[in-house]
Amino acid sequence: MNFKKGIIVTWVSIVLNIGLFAIKYWAGIVSHSVALVADAWHTLSDSVSSLAVLLGLKFSNMPADQRHPYGHGRAELIASLIVGILLAVVGFNFLADSIIKFKEQAAFNFKPLAIWVTVISIVVKEAMARYSIYVGKNIHSNSLKADGWHHRSDAISSLVILIGIFIGSKIWWMDSVLGIFVSFMIFYTTYGIMKDTISVLLGENIEKEMKDEIESIGLNIRNNLFLDPHDFKIHHYGNHSELVFHIRLPGDYSLAKAHAIASEYEALIEDKYSLEVTIHIEPVE
Ligand SMILES: [Zn+2]
Ligand SMILES: [Zn+2]
Ligand SMILES: [Zn+2]
Repeated sequence: MNFKKGIIVTWVSIVLNIGLFAIKYWAGIVSHSVALVADAWHTLSDSVSSLAVLLGLKFSNMPADQRHPYGHGRAELIASLIVGILLAVVGFNFLADSIIKFKEQAAFNFKPLAIWVTVISIVVKEAMARYSIYVGKNIHSNSLKADGWHHRSDAISSLVILIGIFIGSKIWWMDSVLGIFVSFMIFYTTYGIMKDTISVLLGENIEKEMKDEIESIGLNIRNNLFLDPHDFKIHHYGNHSELVFHIRLPGDYSLAKAHAIASEYEALIEDKYSLEVTIHIEPVE
């Protein structure tokens, strides 16, 4: 089953985040680094984001039931929203930290231990980002891809902290300015996640290529008979989509004949796309 791959990725993310939390917290205490302890708590909170993805994937794969006849596919979109909101919070925190650092002209004073932990964190987070985005694309999971972008944002913000450690002593404003830049990058990523998710939730129009393809399928059903497909409505429920549209048939056709044409048309479209198709028939005089 495809979604199992997604479940495995989210579990790996959760376990690695808890592991990183433990290392950062320990190193932060040992090296008396407030910044590293704060980063440790952030890393622990990242598990919540992956947990939302995990629950979204599990729910969205539950079969349709009496109360939810269209399945539970949209649960995954809700998970994407949660991931997006958590990422926005990360962006705000990073922006606030960077502005405070700029005002106080403070440079982080990291010990070698803290530097090593930060390097490990960058490598692990970027690996998690690649893994999540790769599998997310593979199983068409927006929430998993979004979580991958969160991992990448974490890697980049740690990289900025690292840059600050090495050149902060020479150019004091460098890491705060980079930090502000990175927080806007995080906001932009959040915007992308939210825009895609909300657009699908609100309901999108049928794509033009699909409409054209459906029109050309219609031309082959009865030679020379123009079915005039129109009024397309498509509803996406995660892994399940419903398509409804109208066709026109001669008014003197028997009900059986008209129904046979509509059924054949529905079947041909369902063969090509994973859709549930319903056709409404109108008579032309
Ligand atoms: Zn994070
Ligand atoms: Zn109509
Ligand atoms: Zn029928």
